[in-house]
Amino acid sequence: MMERLLRYMRQLPIKWKLALGATALIFLLFATYNFAQYLVLKQWMMNQERDNIQVSMAQIQDYFQEKYHTEDALQITESRAYLEKMIGKNQLVRIVGKEGEPLLTVTNHFDENWVTPKSITEPELFDTTHNEDHILIYRSPIQTANFAGTIELASNLETFDLFSETLLWVMLIGGVLAIFISAFSGLAIARQLMHPIRALTSTIRSVKEKGLTERVGNIQNGDELSSLAQLFNELMNQLEISFRQQKQFVEDASHELRTPITILEGHLSLLNRWGKSNPEVLEESLQASLQEIRRMKGLVQELLTLTRVESQLLTEISKPIPLVPLIHETLDRFEALHSEFEFQLKTESIEDVLISISPLHLEQILLIVLDNAVKYSANDKRIVIEGLRLKTDVQIIVRDHGIGIPEADLPYVFDRFYRVDKARNREIAGTGLGLSIANQSVRNYSGEMTIESVENEGTSVSIKLPISPSVH
Ligand code: ADP
Repeated sequence: MMERLLRYMRQLPIKWKLALGATALIFLLFATYNFAQYLVLKQWMMNQERDNIQVSMAQIQDYFQEKYHTEDALQITESRAYLEKMIGKNQLVRIVGKEGEPLLTVTNHFDENWVTPKSITEPELFDTTHNEDHILIYRSPIQTANFAGTIELASNLETFDLFSETLLWVMLIGGVLAIFISAFSGLAIARQLMHPIRALTSTIRSVKEKGLTERVGNIQNGDELSSLAQLFNELMNQLEISFRQQKQFVEDASHELRTPITILEGHLSLLNRWGKSNPEVLEESLQASLQEIRRMKGLVQELLTLTRVESQLLTEISKPIPLVPLIHETLDRFEALHSEFEFQLKTESIEDVLISISPLHLEQILLIVLDNAVKYSANDKRIVIEGLRLKTDVQIIVRDHGIGIPEADLPYVFDRFYRVDKARNREIAGTGLGLSIANQSVRNYSGEMTIESVENEGTSVSIKLPISPSVH
């Protein structure tokens, strides 16, 4: 039974759990506090009643002691007038003889049958109930010169009872009200708290059903739950962007591959129709086909490199290596292939710089930039490679004096497959992927690549990479 209840409680929505918890807690606090207060008050009032009755008794005792120490017991009745004045509402005074016989009874709104006369030797003070009534009785022996008996003083605690009953009711009603108020306010607070979570849940559901464009709307305050929703939105934005980029990439790649395939197809059908008999066509088409296939191979190779560079999220931290020797090595190999160019190397200011990069990656970046400098140079065959030391970075600038890039195209040269003016580039082989690969690789190492160019004057490509603190 208990287990079932617990299991049920566990399944309740958080909103109800919070509200129930708050209600139970408030009720418990309220009930204990009120009950304690009730008990204390009641006790205090009872003590007050006892004090009162004792004071009255003392007065009556004094009266009799004074008045009757010489006279006869029978004259007790004369005291009626005094006693009538003396007692208050709902009270009784009785003088009882030695044998328990009532000698004198004075009442005020009090039925004398409620208390049976009794003679005692020791004083007694107690409360008792008679039917509905709560009665406080005080009996005290009296001994004067010529009378011995008992004085009985009784008080109906009607007002006291009424008061404590009212108190109890007030408490109960207050308790019930407190439960309701705490339940309602607990529920309201919980609902307020749960609002962002509900919004998040419903958004996640609609993302599942309708796709990546759904977002959590209407994020108001700045609490943790709202920042969770905010974070979710940002995450979804990134996902959407990368999803769209991925799609774009596949589209671009397919488009780029379609051109050589179409050319290849044209040559093959040409060969099929004429090539068997015409050696000239055969030769020409075979050469053209081979060239297209080489182009395609290059393209596929670069696509592979690009995806590899892009998915390389956090490079395992490479050991710091000296930069200058690496540039020298790369340039030496490159120079051998392009002997008609004049390479000028200025690395004095970065001689002892260390950077944390995989040598292969740096070589790849440099080769892409150098290759472009060579490809897009015209008559002026000077290429300058300069190293500058900045505050926390090293800047490598590759400057050529080639055809340059029109200002309008400059912002796009890092985009995948972007080639400036396809007509201009027809002669020069390329895929438009080189700079994207280099840029992505530099970014993987927290660096930055920029390009400046003036058409027909030259281009300078800058690669900035963070310097590793040299270990001494
Ligand atoms: P590509 O394979 O066409 O060289 P890149 O991504 O390396 O692709 O370069 C993109 C475009 O930027 C090139 O098509 C070219 O028009 C232009 N470009 C790059 N480097 C230079 C340069 N040094 N001088 C002139 N134009 C350049």
